[in-house]
Amino acid sequence: MDAVEKFLKDHSLSLEEYRELLGRWQEADVREVLKSEAVKLRKKYYGDKVFTRGLIEFTNYCKNNCYYCGIRKGNHNAQRYRLTKEEILECCKQGYELGFRTFVLQGGEDPYYTDEKMADIIRSIRESYTDCAITLSIGEKSYESYRLFREAGADRYLLRHETANEEHYGKLHPPQMSLANRMKCLYELKELGYQVGAGFMVGSPGQTLDCIARDLVFLQELKPQMVGIGPFIPHHDTEFANEPAGSVDLTLFLLSVIRIMLPKVLLPATTALGTMDPRGREKGLSVGANVVMPNLSPVMNRKKYDLYDNKICTGEEAAECRGCLGRRVESVGYRLVNERGDAIQ
Ligand code: SAH
Repeated sequence: MDAVEKFLKDHSLSLEEYRELLGRWQEADVREVLKSEAVKLRKKYYGDKVFTRGLIEFTNYCKNNCYYCGIRKGNHNAQRYRLTKEEILECCKQGYELGFRTFVLQGGEDPYYTDEKMADIIRSIRESYTDCAITLSIGEKSYESYRLFREAGADRYLLRHETANEEHYGKLHPPQMSLANRMKCLYELKELGYQVGAGFMVGSPGQTLDCIARDLVFLQELKPQMVGIGPFIPHHDTEFANEPAGSVDLTLFLLSVIRIMLPKVLLPATTALGTMDPRGREKGLSVGANVVMPNLSPVMNRKKYDLYDNKICTGEEAAECRGCLGRRVESVGYRLVNERGDAIQ
């Protein structure tokens, strides 16, 4: 039996077999058969529902220096901003009225938001929006901090592992950062009862198909409830400014693979995918993704949360975004729902 047949049957493979599967990603019939299996599974578990997450990018200060990222500490051209608790709550209020039932607080690793400040923000959202999920995406913290945030009311945590290959990790990050710590964080978050999201960029500098095979094995072991993948997009103020962007087609292929590997996974069609291709998010939904994460950040700050060049949806008000996205989702036969959209067990 070849790797494709085996994957369709078992939904899991060894590292060696993932290498074989990935080696065939450009074969049209392989893509087609994986795509139909992925769509079958997403429909079995989620029907035609697409969940939305209101993304609140509350700070672009960061103490880290990830080489690919436009808001890394070393980028002195970035115009920095922070949202106050009141501004964050205002984003939630607008979002709630528009039907969002998950709020994602994402930011750089900004020491200004001490654990106490974070917990206070989380508690305030928790008290005002009892029927909403709170997702954090604020990087690597200690077990104690994660525990505090969980007790304050956070339900989910997004922390992409970025790459499961140690050497590749070292090419993307300064020596102070380590893959081991990133992975430790993910396992601790799981232990604390968070719904956890891992993931990686497709086509980041130095990434090979072998790296991706390792990413898949890692995801298969971790079994996260959410997986975020999107193409790498160069940012002009980084050392990767002249590197090529990741492939949309490979991203789409991997979305199908991840849907098959983790059939109940919450899998966003990411903004990066929409940036690389005007119908990228629709295409993502058509191959197995079931989540979209429009921006709820105040429009005056949006352009400053500048992870990569030409990021889409930085000009519209939240309501326009919601309307536009609703139509996009419908154009591929799905529908946006106003639900928390928790992982199904
Ligand atoms: N500080 C948080 C949030 C990071 S931003 C954390 O460490 O988790 C969210 C994600 O954006 C990152 O995990 C990374 O995978 C992605 N990202 C950053 N720079 C990017 C780029 N140039 N192209 C595409 N995606 C990028």
